[in-house]
Amino acid sequence: MYILVINCGSSSLKYQLLDTVTRNPLAKGLVERIGMSGSGLTHRPAGKDAKAAVLEIPDHTVAIRLVLDTLVDPTYGVMQNLGQIGAVGHRVVHGGEEFAQSALVTAEVMKGIEDCVELAPLHNPPNIAGIKACQKLMPGVPQVAVFDTAFHQTMPREAYIYGLPYEMYEKYKIRRYGFHGTSHKYVSQRAAVLLQKPLASLKLISCHLGNGSSITAVRGGKSVETSMGFTPLEGLMMGTRSGNLDPAIVSYIMRKENMDFEQINDFLNKRSGVLGVSGVSSDFRDIEAAAQQGNGRAQLALDIFAHDVKEYIGAYAAILDGVDAIIFTAGLGENSAGMREAVCGGLSYMGVAVDPEKNKVRGEEVDISAEGTRCPILVIPTNEELMIALETEEVVRGL
Ligand code: ADP
Repeated sequence: MYILVINCGSSSLKYQLLDTVTRNPLAKGLVERIGMSGSGLTHRPAGKDAKAAVLEIPDHTVAIRLVLDTLVDPTYGVMQNLGQIGAVGHRVVHGGEEFAQSALVTAEVMKGIEDCVELAPLHNPPNIAGIKACQKLMPGVPQVAVFDTAFHQTMPREAYIYGLPYEMYEKYKIRRYGFHGTSHKYVSQRAAVLLQKPLASLKLISCHLGNGSSITAVRGGKSVETSMGFTPLEGLMMGTRSGNLDPAIVSYIMRKENMDFEQINDFLNKRSGVLGVSGVSSDFRDIEAAAQQGNGRAQLALDIFAHDVKEYIGAYAAILDGVDAIIFTAGLGENSAGMREAVCGGLSYMGVAVDPEKNKVRGEEVDISAEGTRCPILVIPTNEELMIALETEEVVRGL
C-alpha cells in the first residue's frame, strides 16, 4: 500500500510517500517557511532529479496541495494519480492519556487531539492543521494519527506520577508522558529481528540520541520507563535543553536574572544543554571538533552527556532487572563512535563492552559489542516515517 506520511510543524511540513510492501520511500521532501516570505519546496523522488522551488505558500492547505501536485507531476512525480494513495499517516506529538495507540481520524479522535493542545501548544496545532488540510484535499482517503507519546502509555503509575500533590495530576494532567515513542518502538522491533528473539522475551534499553534525546526501558516490547517527562525538557542534557535540574534552580535564576516565565522557558529549552555548557554550538559535530582542538568546555559538554546517558543505562538496568541489549539510534547515536565508546566504557560489570573496529560502522544496523561479552550493543538507524506508514497500514487494513 502507498502511504503518505506527513509531519507538520508550525512553519514546515516534511513528507514521505512510502510503499509498505518494499518498505522504501518513493519520494520525500520538505516544505519550509509556510506563511512567511521565501517559502518553498524541496522534493526528492527516488531515482529522479530533485526539485527545488521557491513560491508563495501561505498555509498548510496550500503546502499539501503543492505536495500532492508534485507527487503526480509528469517530470518529478512518482505516481499516475492520487487515487493510488491508500491512506495518510500523520505524526501527532501529543496524545495525552487519550491515545495509547495510533488512531483512525474521526470527529471524536479529532476532538481528543484538540484536547491535548494545552499539553503541547506549539506542536499539536500544526499537526491538526495538517490533518484538516488532507481531509479537505483528499476526501475519502483514511487519515491516521500516530502519536509520539502513545508507546509510553504502558508505563506503570510509579514511573509516571511525579512527587507533587496528587491533585496536580487530576486537575492539570501533570504526569510523565515521554516522547520519541515511534522511534523507540521501531528500534525495539528491529532489535528483536537482529537478535532473532521474540520481542516479548527481551529487556532493552533504547537510547535515542539526537538534537533532542531520550532513553527508554522496554520490557517485552512495552515502554516501562522513559527519560522525557511532562515535556521533552526532562531527562538527558540535550542540544539546547537543560535536561534534569534541581527544580529550585528555576526560581533562583528567574530572581537573579530578572526573567519572566516565557524567558526562563526559552532559556531552559533553547539556550542551555550542550550549547550552554560549551558556548560553541548545539550540534555535536561542532562540539566534537572543538573538543579535539582542546576546547575544555566542549569536552565538558561531551563528558556530561556521556555521564547522563550512562546514568540512565544503569538506572534502567535496575528497573528492568537486567538488560538483553542496548540500542543506539538518531543522529548522534547512529553516527558518533566516540560518544558510543564514552557511554559504554566502564560498564564491563554489566557485560557491556564496545569492539572499536565494529564501532566504526555508520548508517547500518550492526552489533558493535566486543567478542565474548554478554550484552549486545546495537546501532539501529531509526525510521520514524516507515513506522508511521506501517502503523497507518495496520489501522486501515481492518476498514
Ligand atoms: P533531531 O532531534 O533534530 O531529529 P537528529 O536525530 O537528526 O536530531 O540528530 C541531530 C544531531 O545528531 C545533530 O545535532 C548532530 O549533533 C548529531 N550528529 C549527526 N551526525 C553526527 C556525527 N557524524 N557525529 C556526531 N554527531 C552527529
